[in-house]
Amino acid sequence: MERRIDFSHQRHMLCGGCDHRFVVGLDWIDRWEQGGEKCLGCDLTGEHEDAPRVTVDPDDPALDDGRVAQFFWYHTSTQPDWPSRAFDPASGFTPEMRMRMGGVERVAAWAARQRAKALHVGTYEAAVHNMLRRMHDQADDGCQFYLYRVHLKPSVVVRKGWLIDPSDFVGDVVLGEFCPPGTDVARYLNYHEDPGGLSLALGRGAIDKVQQIAIPLSDAWDRDWARESVAALENASEALVPATGGLGRFMPPCSPRADLSRDLGRGLAADLPINLQSQLVSAVAFGEGADPVRWAKQASCLLSLIVDPSPVLVMLDQQERREV
Ligand SMILES: [Zn+2]
Repeated sequence: MERRIDFSHQRHMLCGGCDHRFVVGLDWIDRWEQGGEKCLGCDLTGEHEDAPRVTVDPDDPALDDGRVAQFFWYHTSTQPDWPSRAFDPASGFTPEMRMRMGGVERVAAWAARQRAKALHVGTYEAAVHNMLRRMHDQADDGCQFYLYRVHLKPSVVVRKGWLIDPSDFVGDVVLGEFCPPGTDVARYLNYHEDPGGLSLALGRGAIDKVQQIAIPLSDAWDRDWARESVAALENASEALVPATGGLGRFMPPCSPRADLSRDLGRGLAADLPINLQSQLVSAVAFGEGADPVRWAKQASCLLSLIVDPSPVLVMLDQQERREV
């Protein structure tokens, strides 16, 4: 069952100082993170350790144990066969890397720990947000991403209540810490991706089937915006110009074309919810020498994942449900 997709819905806050609960928009949270807002109950500001934090919406339907397995859950990955049974996290290691890690047995033990980690699925919004963050961090820049719609086994046992966002801890979380014996799935509150939303930590065994598409879709783009952007970019010089100004000497040289692409990216992101704007801008960063047509199309396709998810959902509906 699909839930309503809305990247800009209101968020619930809970103050650790005065226990006041209140509901705010993403713009309020953005100002609060920058010290520009106070708790509506007790005036605590964001830097205080008991300051209000986003919390779960008490009416979130995913709090209903019986409905967790009925909902569609999402995951984005650069792995084309997630969640692969044959996943070998050490497959890309060279003999030198294996030596440096302490030899064959050490590598095998490390790989076993990696495989024991929990899988994560969440709302559509959280999955898209996660992909943008990974593009923003550059580690996966230029990789093909896949969106997975995850169908859970109807028999899964859901751990009572919910846990705190594991990204607040150092390192990854081992499945057994999330899902004690007798449980298959644990809910946790997201602080960063779809803040306030509930994601799930689970093992492969909790997943019944997945549907998969490559994202962004290759034909969901704004042709008018792309045509105008390409014309402007082709008019801008590709020649590198040394940066000027006080900090300029620390910046790499940049072409007027790349400069313009940043402005176009900012314009594209301007109407998005505030917590996605800078991530979209850096996800669509223009590499010097890139093809303007390819760039404009890719940027517009990425935006459409957020502003109009319906073609994505239609495309997913058409995909076969693969057993994992
Ligand atoms: Zn308060």
